[in-house]
Amino acid sequence: MSTPESRFATLSEALPDVLPSAAAASFVQRAGEGLFSWSELLALLEDDRPVANSLIRFAAVTSTATEPVPETLSQTLLALGLKSTLALAAAFSIQAANGSGPCHQFAYQRFWDVSLARGFAARTLGRLCSHADPDEFFVYGLLLRVGQISLAAEHPQTYAGMVAETDDPLLLLSQEQAQFRTTHLRAGLKLINGWPLPRGVATTLQVLLADSHAPSPDSSTTRDLELLRHAEGAAQVLLADQPLDTLAACLSPLMNLGLRPSDCLLLATEMRNHWKAWCRQTTSVNAFAPCTAPEVAPHEKSQGRRHPAADDDPLTILIIDDDPMTVLSLSHLLHTPTKVVINAADGSQGLALAERHQPQIVITDWRMPGLNGIELCRLLRSDERTRHTYIIMLTGCESDDELLQAFAAWADDYIVKPFKPKVLEARIRSGERLVRSHRTIIRDREIIHHYAEQLAQANRTLQELALTDVLTGLPNRRNALERLKEVTAEARRHQGPLCCIMIDIDHFKKVNDDWGHDVGDRVLRELAEVFISSARRYDMVSRIGGEEFLVICPHSTVVETQHLAERLRQAVADYPIVHDRQAIGVTISCGVAAWRQNMHDFEEMTKTADRALYRAKQRGRNCVVVEEGR
Ligand code: GH3
Ligand code: MG
Ligand code: MG
Repeated sequence: MSTPESRFATLSEALPDVLPSAAAASFVQRAGEGLFSWSELLALLEDDRPVANSLIRFAAVTSTATEPVPETLSQTLLALGLKSTLALAAAFSIQAANGSGPCHQFAYQRFWDVSLARGFAARTLGRLCSHADPDEFFVYGLLLRVGQISLAAEHPQTYAGMVAETDDPLLLLSQEQAQFRTTHLRAGLKLINGWPLPRGVATTLQVLLADSHAPSPDSSTTRDLELLRHAEGAAQVLLADQPLDTLAACLSPLMNLGLRPSDCLLLATEMRNHWKAWCRQTTSVNAFAPCTAPEVAPHEKSQGRRHPAADDDPLTILIIDDDPMTVLSLSHLLHTPTKVVINAADGSQGLALAERHQPQIVITDWRMPGLNGIELCRLLRSDERTRHTYIIMLTGCESDDELLQAFAAWADDYIVKPFKPKVLEARIRSGERLVRSHRTIIRDREIIHHYAEQLAQANRTLQELALTDVLTGLPNRRNALERLKEVTAEARRHQGPLCCIMIDIDHFKKVNDDWGHDVGDRVLRELAEVFISSARRYDMVSRIGGEEFLVICPHSTVVETQHLAERLRQAVADYPIVHDRQAIGVTISCGVAAWRQNMHDFEEMTKTADRALYRAKQRGRNCVVVEEGR
């Protein structure tokens, strides 16, 4: 696979352009050359409004509950960071510049809706991948099938129908190959050279496109591709607005990676919340049903947990007026099943009720005995519990001066008495809309925060699983190699002793043959226990292969380690393993090696231990051999 020579090279003659906007191209190029300052970057993006808007929306949708939701472009750039901004801006600019095209039958809108849903699903699944940034995964998901746009332009008569007839990407690829002698993945590969994607992102995308075309089993991208394939399935479920359980079920093959069903549900919830939040902020998604409040996960329902402000929660409205007739007529007017109306006869009583009930809307008279409306308004705004209350000021006087005073005290609206019921109702409706959208934002952030915490826990579990041998619970080979790196670096620095023991069970194949594989597994588990209880606290016992174990012994001399190996060997020989009342005799052979300062790396030590183990086998097994190294 070749890296792009110039990211701004002209596109292949054979394929029509799928180009990003000029501003985005120029800023990615300049940033790539290190020629920008934040203000310059901001100015360039300000010139590319569609891209800037998409970035702001993306950052708001994916912000976590612990960060403020970015609202402006500069807050967005700070929240996303330079690396993500560059990759996302390039991808959004490709989307913005290709919202329509020469092929009238091709459903461009639908194409981008599917791609965006795949992007959000990929972003969530990308969190399972320690080597890649989730925002980059979004870009891979978004652009994975962008070659379809060039095929649509090249074959306007036939291609749109072909795409419309199948949701199965593999089938589409084979039809493309049969009809056009190329595929949209190949078309995408050709396009990448012309895109202003940051170099690392372009290179990975090229590998992904090439590999998903002709997968190679050993490829390091296999896992990324698998995640993208699941993102593809999840995107279909998101677009069809199917229930959360269906989405989680579509992620269940991920349990092969060690995820539990509850983890799949968490992932499903996150991608669905992101997708719904994105749809709420844009009118572009036609395929999606009108947005409703994010679903509460089933396990939460069963625990009776309720988020503080579901859309159907009634609103509490507090009316404060010293004129009983006004209170009566307002109460009558406002009372509906979705509203709870409470009232107070003066400012002080109103304040006390506001603190106790924390109403979403307060309608207060201006002139009242004691605390007046303006003072009340200021007090409500200064209290954390009531500062977001929507306040409507009622007054008998219509002067501009009074209106200014009311807004200076942070009232939200102002109504002159006597009011017309229809006008009052309309203004309360507008307040209600604001209150409900504020509630939705708070609720969404709480839900996302809640799931982000659980997801972090799931990620920690996943990381532990990646370092643990499933059968015995011992550290696995990967874990042992990490530890070897650490201890050899330490031994090199402090010139201290370090040894290791390579252990192999003798004639283990025969145990399997004689007693069956399950008994073989039990033997492996029990021997792991024997090793752990016989080794010292600071030795690390790991299972590095089928019936091979490695013990790393930091700060231990050869003599000490030889004694330890002998103790392990004896403990195994003495350990009674019984099956069907018959003893299974098991022994081990051990090879001991020491770290030497002239060794190049830890592999020299483990290879030396391997040689010692080989000699132990040659000597008749059930023994310990020490190899001093060459
Ligand atoms: P030697 O004394 O020369 O080491 O003989 P051996 O039979 O132990 O060595 P060999 O390498 O021929 O066989 C190792 C066996 O270990 C073969 C394989 O079936 C078995 N084995 C590897 N992993 C597992 C496992 O996870 N569970 C079980 N039950 N058996 C395993
Ligand atoms: Mg072996
Ligand atoms: Mg063996």
